[in-house]
Amino acid sequence: MPESTPAPASAPLAAAPVRTDVLIIGAGPVGLFAAFQAGVLGLQCELIDVLDRPGGQCTELYPEKPIYDIPAVPGCLAQDLVDRLLEQCAPFAFPMHFGQRASSVAEVERDGHARLLVTTDGGKQFDVAAVLVCAGAGAFAPQRVALPEAAALEGRHLHYAVREVARFAGKRVVVAGGGDSALDWALALRKVAARVTLLHRRDGFRAADASVAEMKAAVAAGEMDFVIGMLGALQCAPGPDGEQLAAVEVRTREAPLTLPADELVALYGLVTEPGPIAHWDLELRAGRVLVDTTTYESSRRGIFAAGDIAYYPNKQKLILSGFHEAALALRRAYHYAFPDKALVHVHTSNNATLKERLTHA
Ligand SMILES: Cc1cc2nc3c(=O)[nH]c(=O)nc-3n(C[C@H](O)[C@H](O)[C@H](O)COP(=O)(O)OP(=O)(O)OC[C@H]3O[C@@H](n4cnc5c(N)ncnc54)[C@H](O)[C@@H]3O)c2cc1C
Repeated sequence: MPESTPAPASAPLAAAPVRTDVLIIGAGPVGLFAAFQAGVLGLQCELIDVLDRPGGQCTELYPEKPIYDIPAVPGCLAQDLVDRLLEQCAPFAFPMHFGQRASSVAEVERDGHARLLVTTDGGKQFDVAAVLVCAGAGAFAPQRVALPEAAALEGRHLHYAVREVARFAGKRVVVAGGGDSALDWALALRKVAARVTLLHRRDGFRAADASVAEMKAAVAAGEMDFVIGMLGALQCAPGPDGEQLAAVEVRTREAPLTLPADELVALYGLVTEPGPIAHWDLELRAGRVLVDTTTYESSRRGIFAAGDIAYYPNKQKLILSGFHEAALALRRAYHYAFPDKALVHVHTSNNATLKERLTHA
C-alpha cells in the first residue's frame, strides 16, 4: 500500500482517552460490518485504521475486481462493497480515526469494572470495555521491486496495485508476477492498454486454472504477450512529470530482452506481519490471533478477533466468514460493556428503534 499515509512513528498523547464500549481496530470490510452490528446491538464504538481511508484489502488491492460470494449480492466491485458497508453503518455515525495504528493495550479498572486502554502511534487513547481486532493481514505491504531505479518511479509509473483501470488506457504495460492478481490484472488491462505483457519467472502459476487458461488463450489470439524471465533493470527517460519509465529489461534463459513500457505493475504478493498486535500477549497461530469459535474472543479477556486476522481450525479467509465472526464477537462484548444487562435478541426486521434510526438517517 505505498500510496497510503502511514501513521507517524509516535506522537504525544492526546489529552483524555476516548471512552466508548468497543474499539474496532481495522476499517476493512469486516471492521465496517462490525460497526453496523455494534449499532444494531446498542453498543457505542469507534474505529481506527493505520491507513488514510477505509476499505482494507478491497480498497487497497483490488477495488475494481468483482466479488461474487457476498450473500444476496450476485456480483459487485470490491470498492462498491466497501461503499455499501460504509452506507450501512453511516446511520450510527461512529467516529473513524485514520492514520492511527493500535500500538499497545493495557488492562485498567474503572468503578470496579475491567476495561482496556488502547494507545495508538498517532497519540490517541481509547478506554473501552472490549476490543475487536479486525486487522486483516496485519501491517501488510507489497513485495517491492528490488532495483535501485524503482523508488523514483513508485506511485507514478511503478504500481503495486491497480486503483484505476482508466489510468492505463493506451499505455504499454508490463504486469510482473504469477499469482491471481497478476493474471487477473493482465487480462483486465489488455482491454484498455495499448499492449500488455505478463512477465513471470516460469511457465507455472499460483493462480486459478481458469485464469491461466484465459491468459493462454489471449496470448494465442494475439491480445497480449507472455514472457518468461526476471526483471533485470528499468530504463528511465525524462518526462513532463520527472523521470518516467521507458523500458523494462528482462533477464531470460536465452538472450536478455528489452520491453518498451510506460507502466510497470508489480504484483509479487504481500509481505505480512501482525504488527504491534503480535506483542499483546495474545495466543497466536502463524501470526494470527487464536480465537474461541463460540465467542471469537482471544486468549486475553475482552480482546476479540474477526476477519483474516482471526485463526481457528478450518478458518476461511473470506469476507462472509469475517461478518459472522464479528457478529458473534460483539454479542459477547456486550456483556463486558453492560455486565448487569441481558442482551435480548430482536431481529432487525422487528427492531423498532433501529428502524426509526435508519429511517431518519
Ligand atoms: C486479490 C484478492 C481478491 C479477493 N477476492 C475475494 C472474494 O472474491 N471474496 C471474498 O470473500 N474475499 C476475497 N478476498 C479476501 C478478502 O479481501 C479478505 O478476506 C478481507 O479483506 C478481510 O477483511 P478484514 O476486514 O478482515 O481485513 P482487511 O481487508 O485486511 O482490513 C484490515 C484493516 O486493518 C488495518 N490494520 C491492520 N493492523 C492495524 C493496526 N495495528 N492498527 C490499525 N489498523 C490496522 C489495515 O490497514 C486494514 O485496513 C480477496 C483478497 C484479495 C487479495
